[in-house]
Amino acid sequence: MKKIRLSKSVVGDEEKRAIARVIDAGYLGMGKEVQLFEEEISKFLSTNNEVICVNTGTAALHLALQAIGVGPGDEVLVPSITYVATFQAVSATGAKPIACDVTEDRVFIDLKDAENRLSLRTKAIMPVHYGSSSEGMDAVYEFASQYGLRVVEDAAHSFGCYRNGIKVGMHENIICFSFDGIKNITSGEGGAIVTSDLDVARKIKDARLLGVEKDTDKRYAGQRSWAFDVSEKGWRYHMSNLMAAIGREQLKKIYMFADIRRRLAQKYLVELQGVPLLRFFDFNYSEIVPHIFPMRVLGGCRDSLIAALNDENIESGIHYQPNHLLELFRSNYNCEISECLGNELISIPLHPEISDCDQERVILCIAEAMNHFKNA
Ligand SMILES: *Cc1c(COP(=O)(O)O)cnc(C)c1O
Repeated sequence: MKKIRLSKSVVGDEEKRAIARVIDAGYLGMGKEVQLFEEEISKFLSTNNEVICVNTGTAALHLALQAIGVGPGDEVLVPSITYVATFQAVSATGAKPIACDVTEDRVFIDLKDAENRLSLRTKAIMPVHYGSSSEGMDAVYEFASQYGLRVVEDAAHSFGCYRNGIKVGMHENIICFSFDGIKNITSGEGGAIVTSDLDVARKIKDARLLGVEKDTDKRYAGQRSWAFDVSEKGWRYHMSNLMAAIGREQLKKIYMFADIRRRLAQKYLVELQGVPLLRFFDFNYSEIVPHIFPMRVLGGCRDSLIAALNDENIESGIHYQPNHLLELFRSNYNCEISECLGNELISIPLHPEISDCDQERVILCIAEAMNHFKNA
């Protein structure tokens, strides 16, 4: 029985040829390809904001936080249900991630709970576009302005999405994407910050290159900086030409990937509706490009469903465990909904190479298993 993977890099001959082109040109580091990738992302997002590519989505979050001045002694509000990257990016600045509970309908940061977590040290809030949905973001900006906080959006799941008819990434003050191997598009590994704040953009451009001032301009002109100054902390976080070349080819495929991902998610939703003990989230599948298909399994059956899928050679995942239960980030308070979701969440296979036949197999396996559990 063929293995059905949960997620997968979908790359082909176009990406191979692009890599060969960079290798033949003999300039693998950060140069023209990265500049072109940034320009093409701007065009895709129809944005006048600055686009800055880096080597991971985590680096994008870290640099964004550093650029707004988050550091030791500060606190940043984050939803507990997210990839640990969100928490570690805050840690990397020396600040403390403060876990907030999430909403039950869309696993979005719960602002009522966030309000309880405010302190004099709170500097920023980092909402996560869980499952590619960012409904509720307007309220986050209102909350932030009420309490004088900066907003950094973790949009690792939502490249290519719309919200209320507007492309995510077009207008935001500071938003971070990920292009790791399994995200909506990939550059091998990679990420980008898109920002309307020119001061933040300048700081990030320097900080991705060890803080070497204006090194970005030099590299895009095919030159190096020999005499330079460094005035702020920096990291080795830039993107390479090799990565950008893959990303540029993937960007051409985003509409195709988006169609397939949407169609798969919508079919799951229709076909699994009415299966006992399953609950679905309230995502707007006509606007988002779903990076994952998470759902809730009630009745304590989640782990049994994982096992049943596994028996049929079907991978599944958990997006995510609550971060406030991890040793490094353990809180002395509860996040009730996050803890409940931690035991109920399952994600089922979703990537552009899942065939109709594969999807039928997944649906059938889930329906059979759940009916069995219900009657047991
Ligand atoms: C993937 C991901 C990241 C980090 O991106 P990388 O490119 O893997 O470093 C951050 N936040 C969330 C929610 C993610 O899913």
